[in-house]
Amino acid sequence: MKSQSAQVHFNDSGTPVADHFDDVYFSNDSGIDETLHVFIGGNDLSERWHSHNRRDFVIAETGFGTGLNCLVAMQAFKQFRDANPAHPLKHLFILTTEKFPLKKADLRQALNAFPALNQAADALAEQYPVALQGCHRMHFTDFSCTLDLWMGDVHELLPQWHCPRSGLIDAWFLDGFAPSKNPEMWTDALFLQMARLTRQGGTFGTFTAAGIVKRGLRDAGFVVEKRKGFGRKRDMLAGYFDSEKGKQPAPPYSRYNNAPLGDGERIAIVGGGLAAATFAHALAEQGVASTVFCADETLATGASGNRQGGFYPQLHSEASIASQIQAHSFLYARRYYNALPSDDYRHQWCGVLQLGFSDAVIDRQQKLADGGVWPDELVRPVSAEEATSISGLPLSDNGLFIPLGGWLSPPDLVHALINACGDKVTLHLNAKVHNISESSTDVTFSVNNESYTFDRIIMATGADSVLIDTMNALPLRPVRGQVEAIATQAPIDQLNTVLCHKGYMTPQMDSRHALGSTYGKGDTATDVREVDTQTNLATHQKALSNESWIRELEHDGDARASVRLSLPDHQPASGQLTKVNVLWERYQELTVGKPIDGQAELPEGRIFTLTGLGSRGLTTAPLMAQVLASQLLHQPMPMPEKLLQAVAPQRFMIRNCIRGEAP
Ligand code: SAM
Repeated sequence: MKSQSAQVHFNDSGTPVADHFDDVYFSNDSGIDETLHVFIGGNDLSERWHSHNRRDFVIAETGFGTGLNCLVAMQAFKQFRDANPAHPLKHLFILTTEKFPLKKADLRQALNAFPALNQAADALAEQYPVALQGCHRMHFTDFSCTLDLWMGDVHELLPQWHCPRSGLIDAWFLDGFAPSKNPEMWTDALFLQMARLTRQGGTFGTFTAAGIVKRGLRDAGFVVEKRKGFGRKRDMLAGYFDSEKGKQPAPPYSRYNNAPLGDGERIAIVGGGLAAATFAHALAEQGVASTVFCADETLATGASGNRQGGFYPQLHSEASIASQIQAHSFLYARRYYNALPSDDYRHQWCGVLQLGFSDAVIDRQQKLADGGVWPDELVRPVSAEEATSISGLPLSDNGLFIPLGGWLSPPDLVHALINACGDKVTLHLNAKVHNISESSTDVTFSVNNESYTFDRIIMATGADSVLIDTMNALPLRPVRGQVEAIATQAPIDQLNTVLCHKGYMTPQMDSRHALGSTYGKGDTATDVREVDTQTNLATHQKALSNESWIRELEHDGDARASVRLSLPDHQPASGQLTKVNVLWERYQELTVGKPIDGQAELPEGRIFTLTGLGSRGLTTAPLMAQVLASQLLHQPMPMPEKLLQAVAPQRFMIRNCIRGEAP
């Protein structure tokens, strides 16, 4: 769902004021000093960072606003890291909520008042997301910081934060306009969620000293004290959490059932495509080394080996779970690709045009356009004239345009990501993994008759999964796809957007266009077939039947076929891979209508998977890799609980059991 943007004006002191709340975003006197006093000081962050003995520190904020508090915290953390490079605390997470996100121009104007924060403010402006409810993860590598901007109402968002039994949050910045101006936010429900999420000893700081806040926090299990307020404010509140209150047993979908990755743990990644590369990269970005075992003589020979791939989300007219996964994966992936050196992989951010080529599709597109669910920056309707002008080809259908989309070369991307890992990845080629065996302490397997022992293994095996016993825990659905590589010619040499209908066509790369794709369920052969070529051409001729040029295209038969791996609900799988009999033991009570035991976490395991990306790997791989890396490192999850459950590998067993089916 779109988020409603904040309406702001700037007062005589240049401070932004929210029209809706009639309150300032920060002090007229000195915004930075206020943040340092109330939030950094209120949480005693300098001392706490020095005495912290874990690798991550997690701040949560209510009310992101202009981002000032977050940027000040990031800057302070950078100073801490620069001064203490060997300190065990390596990374700062900030989880912040915002119901009415500022428009980017207002955010920039507000932050322009603080030249000391320019570097961080520029980095924020570069990644500042479109106004879509849900979690937008942004990486600030120069600040060793990850910022999760959760758009929506704090009351709807916090219950969706996936949380270990011991809590997640080390410090709270309780901002969010004065309780008198925004009473709906400062409620017991908020304080109870804080109790659920806060680690023992976790702290909070807030500018207000209102009685309702003081009492609410005390009742929820916080020890609350009054401190001197900032500037003209007499008092403020600070304190810490000291209670078991609010803590709930981990849900059956808990992702924190294993110990977090320890220093020097040996991690094997099996695969050589986008899933393996994005996951190795996600770990490397956190300073974690891994070893990649690729069965082929080079990377990206499977489904990630297609020369070009269209990059766009598949959106429904409603914000279905599937669409939310697509939209957020897409937006994250776009930020992620932007952060890679642009010359390292061939791509074009030329947008994607989805043509209304049949009555059913026109109807669906109309519903999407009327629904108002998605922001225009993500997808907007276009007329046939606009479609013609965007694409450079004569088109007579209206459609939808996805301006942030485009195409990328998946093999380039896989190589670029593995290269970007530097010495954090050891790559074994021609290394087919066999005989995986898991014990309570490690995982062993063999490669070319040599035995290997690792602490954890991640199966990113795409369609090869069908040949691997361990992967039988998932209902694998291989799908063959053939894509034509058509030599450029008039008029498609003019094509400058990705054209989608039932199939798709890309602008040229090295004088060829990708034109795809067939969809051969259950077929795992990769030979190029004339019959598939004819199918691809016919698909285009049918969808573009009003355009004479499509019937005149010449094709020399250059094509490639590969096998993609899907799962029955078309969602990816990212998480622990548990044997069917173990899952059955955990969840069988569901078959007789009993609720799952609240304690029924997955048992510890050493095998994980990132797979089932189907033909959407360019869109979903980066965020799914982020989910898995965050899980292994016990870091905050970049998606809400309901989306995490939709990509959890155990979902199939849970659903089957609820339907009363035994495996
Ligand atoms: N921390 C901000 C900064 O550094 O610029 C200033 C925050 S401003 C005082 C309060 C913010 O809380 C506003 O941006 C407002 O839209 C947001 N807010 C108010 N009620 C909210 C709610 N129920 N859920 C999420 N955000 C909310």
